[in-house]
Amino acid sequence: MAERFELLIRNGSVVTPEGVQRVDLGVAAGRIVRVAAAITDSAAEEIDATGLHVFPGILDAHVHFNEPGRTEWEGLTSGPAALAAGGGTWFCDMPLNSNPPVIDAANFAAKRRLAEQKSVVDFSLWGGLVPGNLDQLAGLRDAGAIGLKAFMCGSGIEEFPGVTDAATLRAGMKRAAALGMLVAVHAEDDAMANTLTAAARAGGATDPRAWLATRPVEVELAAIRTATDLAGETGCALHIVHVSSPEGIALITAAKKRGVDVTAETCPHYLLLNEEDVVRQGAVAKCTPPLRPGAARTGLWRAAEAGQIDTIGSDHSPAPPAMKTAADFFAIWGGISGCQHGFPLLLSEAVARDAGALPRLAGLLAANVARRFKLAHKGRLAEGYDADFALLELGRAQPLDNGELLYRHRQGPYHGRSSTVRVRRTVVRGRTVYSEGRIASGTARGSFIQPQN
Ligand SMILES: [Zn+2]
Repeated sequence: MAERFELLIRNGSVVTPEGVQRVDLGVAAGRIVRVAAAITDSAAEEIDATGLHVFPGILDAHVHFNEPGRTEWEGLTSGPAALAAGGGTWFCDMPLNSNPPVIDAANFAAKRRLAEQKSVVDFSLWGGLVPGNLDQLAGLRDAGAIGLKAFMCGSGIEEFPGVTDAATLRAGMKRAAALGMLVAVHAEDDAMANTLTAAARAGGATDPRAWLATRPVEVELAAIRTATDLAGETGCALHIVHVSSPEGIALITAAKKRGVDVTAETCPHYLLLNEEDVVRQGAVAKCTPPLRPGAARTGLWRAAEAGQIDTIGSDHSPAPPAMKTAADFFAIWGGISGCQHGFPLLLSEAVARDAGALPRLAGLLAANVARRFKLAHKGRLAEGYDADFALLELGRAQPLDNGELLYRHRQGPYHGRSSTVRVRRTVVRGRTVYSEGRIASGTARGSFIQPQN
C-alpha cells in the first residue's frame, strides 16, 4: 500500500512569521499537506528533527550567479549549491553579470534553460531595464520575469548600462506599470558618485577610506528620493534593493505613507559588517552602496525590528580572485560573496539581539519575499505550500570557515565569525538537496517559478 506521505518531519520547532510551534509536517507530492502535533502515520521517509528548528526555505531575490558568459565568476551549479548550504531554496538571478545580459526574451530563455539543467534549488529570473529596451519589456514579462532591474548609476558592466537620468527611468516605470511589472532599482545617484570619484582620483587617492568617501549616504538618499517620486507619479511598483542606511529606510517608509507602492530590501552584510571591515578586510568587503559606520548598522537592525524593512537578500556578487586584488582599491571589482554564510550568521545575530527573533526573520527571508514577488506556494511552512525548509541547529557557537564554502571561489567576509546557527539540512519540495556539508547526489533539478498575478 502506498504511504500517505512521502516525507514526515517529526519533533521539530517549526518557524512561521506568527511564531514557533512544535508540530510535525507531512509532505506529499512536494507539498506540505498536513501540519499537526504528533502525526502517527508512516511515511516513505522520516526526518527526526528533535532539537532542531524547521525554518522556511530562504528565498533570495538578489543573487549574481554570472552564468552564462561569466561562469568563471560563479555559475548556476556552484551558486545554487552554496545557497542551499546557507538554507536557501529559491533564488532570483540578476540580469547584468551574465553575458549576454537578460534584456530581452531570447536571453531570458537561454538563462532559464541553463538554470533548469544545473540548479539544485528553485529559481526565478530578473529581466533588465536599460536605456533603449522598452520594446523588450512585454516579452520579458511574458517569459516570466519576476520584475525589471535598473541601475541608477553605472553597473560596471558595459553591456548593461545604467538608467541614469530621470526621464529614462520615468519612461521605463510607465511602461512597467502598464505591463503590471515591478521595477527594482540600485539606488545611487550617478552624477553625485561620479563627481566625488573624479575629485578623489584627481587627488591621487587609492585607499579604502578615500573610496568610501566617494559614496556617502547622500548618494543613496538622492537616488531613493528620485525613484520613490517617480514610482508615485507613474504608479509603478518599486523595490529598492540593498538599502544600506536607516536614513534610506526612513525615506522609503515616508513614501509608503504617501501611498507609493514601494518595498525595501537590505542585505546580511549591512547588518553584520561596517565600514571598518572595508578597511580591515579590503576587497572581500567592497560593495556598493558601501558598508556604513557602526551606528548605521545598529539603525538598520532597529528598522528591521520595527517592521520597516520588507525583505533581506544576499546580493551575492562574486568575482575571480584576480579581480579582487589590486593595490588601487578603486580598481578592485566590487561585490560581496555571502549567500552561504550570510544567512546563518544573520540568524545567529538576530537571536543574540532578541531571543524571539526567528518569526520576524521568517517573514524577512521568506514570507515577505514570496508575497512581494507573487510566488504562489512559497515562503511558508503551512498546508498547501511547497515543502521548502532548512533544518537549523541553534545554540552551539562555532566559527565559520571559508574552507566550507561551496562558491566557485572560497572568499567571503565572515571567516572566523562565531555563529550559533548551523544549517544541517536543506529540503526543496520534499527532496533533500543539502545535508551535513554536502550537496545530495542525484538531486532533482530546480524548477523555474513564474510570478502568479
Ligand atoms: Zn546586486
